[in-house]
Parts: sequence; structure tokens; C-alpha cells
Amino acid sequence: MTEPRGPVDASRVPRFAGPATFARLPRLDEVSRADVAVVGIPFDSGVSYRPGARFGPAAVREASRLLRPYHPGLDVSPFARLQVADAGDIACNPFDIKEAIATIEAAAQDLSAPGTRLVTIGGDHTIALPLLRVAHRLHGPVALLHFDAHLDTWDTYFGAEYTHGTPFRRAIEEGLLDTEAISHVGTRGPLYCKQDLDDDARMGFGIVTSADVMRRGPDEVAAMLRERIGDRPLYISIDIDVLDPAHAPGTGTPEAGGLTSRELLEILRGLAGCNLVGADVVEVAPAYDHAEITSIAASHVAYDLISLLALKEKP
Ligand code: MN
Ligand code: MN
Repeated sequence: MTEPRGPVDASRVPRFAGPATFARLPRLDEVSRADVAVVGIPFDSGVSYRPGARFGPAAVREASRLLRPYHPGLDVSPFARLQVADAGDIACNPFDIKEAIATIEAAAQDLSAPGTRLVTIGGDHTIALPLLRVAHRLHGPVALLHFDAHLDTWDTYFGAEYTHGTPFRRAIEEGLLDTEAISHVGTRGPLYCKQDLDDDARMGFGIVTSADVMRRGPDEVAAMLRERIGDRPLYISIDIDVLDPAHAPGTGTPEAGGLTSRELLEILRGLAGCNLVGADVVEVAPAYDHAEITSIAASHVAYDLISLLALKEKP
């Protein structure tokens, strides 16, 4: 097997020059195959408050220029261990949510077919549903770690079933998740009523609130999650609003009292060894960002997810 083709050499081409693929990696059409594809989904027609996450993939790629090839925290060089490539964006209908979901599902299925795992950059959280359908088709019911300020298990909004606040209820209804191992992490903020929590618990979700992360610390939280997940195929969905608005102002539905980017990254690192099969980072809305704070955080989160996939392969 040939050596993976890595990022553009930063000693020859400055990081701020040239096209912004994720981490300046090759495009998917420049490599013969990929173990991991980073794919953007510039879709935000499912949002309930601030729009703008359709510009997330471009902003995260731009902010990813400074990522370097070796991850000291996990002791892995993900782009040397795996062929990682940028698959560009999935173009989907901004005026028809159901059609967009079908387009995303078909495109993600095609990209995954050769055994390629996807790290997806949103886009609003609606896109998690078609991605989970594909993960389920490949692996059966998957364990889910859902990092988010919000539950995203509401039923409908203005009568609409498919929105960024409903993907995980739909996923449960469709039998996509292994309900023995599904958790929200970083939950906080006001709800509509107490019933929201009762409904969520009935679906099988565990909750590690943002306050729990502060009290127990990232290592203990990660150990607890690992215990619950075991070696099940795991999907990780990260709404960037899990971070405090101080760490991620550029998002659609900010809530005070969130995780720091350090806490989030440390929890992810504590998941090393899990059977990760796919992941997304969603809800980056660059119009509300300042100095790329949010998109830099999202690019590092995506890098850590890729590193977890690489570590899984480590001999
Ligand atoms: Mn959220
Ligand atoms: Mn969400």
C-alpha cells in the first residue's frame, strides 16, 4: 500500500496560501482512496433561531489551515496513519428539507461505500439524521454521543418533523440507535417544560450536563461514557453550541454556562480506543463569530475526531 498523501508541506507553501481544503489535505479526487473523508454540508434550512450555518464548512476549512500533522495529546500522526482527504461539499436543496435529507443520505452512502469513514462539517443539526441512517445501514444500531447545549429530541416545530431540534427523536423512531448506549453531553439552558426531560429519558438517553462536566472533570466523564459505550460502533455528533458562547459565539442558538473548548477536547481524548465509525461537527455560523474563535474550535474538534479514528487503527 502506498503512503498516505498528507497535507501541503508548510515549509514550502505558507499555511495562509493556496486553497483551503480541510487541514490543507488533498481533495478526494486527488487520491486513489481514502480511509477518512472530511465532507461539508452547507445546509441550514432546519434552524429555529439564527441562520447562517450554511457557511460553516467554508469557515471551518479556512480555520483549519494551522492544524499540524502530529497530535501530542494522543501521540498519533493521523494523516500519516490514514489517508484523509477533503471530499468537498454535498450540494443539497436549500428550499426543501426532505429533499435535502434524501440528497445528503445518498451522497454520504456513496462516499462511505468504499469503507471510507466520514467526518462531516455542518451545516445545522438536521444533517445528523441522514448521516445516522447511513451509519446504521453499515453498522446496525449505533451508540451515540451527542455533545450539545440542547436535547434535539423535540417532536415538531411549527408542525415540521425535520428540523435541527428533532434529529435524535427521528433517529430513535427509525431504530437507528442502540438505546443502551446513547448520551447527551453538555446539556444546559432553559427547556419548554419538565416533560422535555421525561420524554428524552424515555427514549433511553443519559445526560451529562454542562455542570456535571465542571464538577466531575473531563477524565471522569470520559471514563463513564467509555464504560457505557463499550466496543459498540459509536457515532459522535458535536453541536458546537456545547461550548460556552465565550468559546463559540458563532452559532445559531447560544446558551450561557457551557463547556470550554479545553474540556470538550479532553473528553474526546479520553474516548481513545472507542469503536468510532463516524462523526459530525455542526452549527458553526460564522456571521456571529469573532476572530475565528468558533471555527478554530470546530477545526480542532474535527482534528481530534480524525485522530480518534486514526488511533483505532494503531497497531
Ligand atoms: Mn444546540
Ligand atoms: Mn444541536
